[in-house]
Amino acid sequence: MGTKEIQLLKIDVKELISDLNKALADEWLAYYQYWVGSKVVKGPMRIQVQEELEEHAAEELKHANMIAKRINQLGGSPLLSPKEWFEVSDCGYESPSDSNVSSILIQNIKGEQCAISYYHEMLEKIKLGNDPITFNMIRKIMEDEVEHEQDLEDILEDLQIMDK
Ligand code: FE
Ligand code: FE
Ligand code: MG
Repeated sequence: MGTKEIQLLKIDVKELISDLNKALADEWLAYYQYWVGSKVVKGPMRIQVQEELEEHAAEELKHANMIAKRINQLGGSPLLSPKEWFEVSDCGYESPSDSNVSSILIQNIKGEQCAISYYHEMLEKIKLGNDPITFNMIRKIMEDEVEHEQDLEDILEDLQIMDK
């Protein structure tokens, strides 16, 4: 626990820990959605898409690590059971039951857009001066999510050009 820092925070720490656990659940579900998507995806540019999905999966796991570390610093506990992911998640999970490249890309774009909205809300709620460390961590994570969204949208756009 980061005792001194917690005293300085101008924020409801319990609520912040619960918001961070929501984000943690989202990150794990996003990790698995990308990971399993990379295993089943079929269609044009399969290898390129697989690589992108694997890269994003690794980055979602990195986000989960950053968030869990911060929850610990704040004196909380990261969610202990995967069952809780579905109970608290904001963005949920979409099974890639249609393994077509475009369908998987569209599902993951939706997930990224949900993450971007959630992190945007968190930044507005926290505000830099009230908790600079969480604020900057979320800002960094959000930069990755924006890049993820763009990467997937670019591939989808290329697929649509190929289709014409
Ligand atoms: Fe993420
Ligand atoms: Fe992402
Ligand atoms: Mg990427």
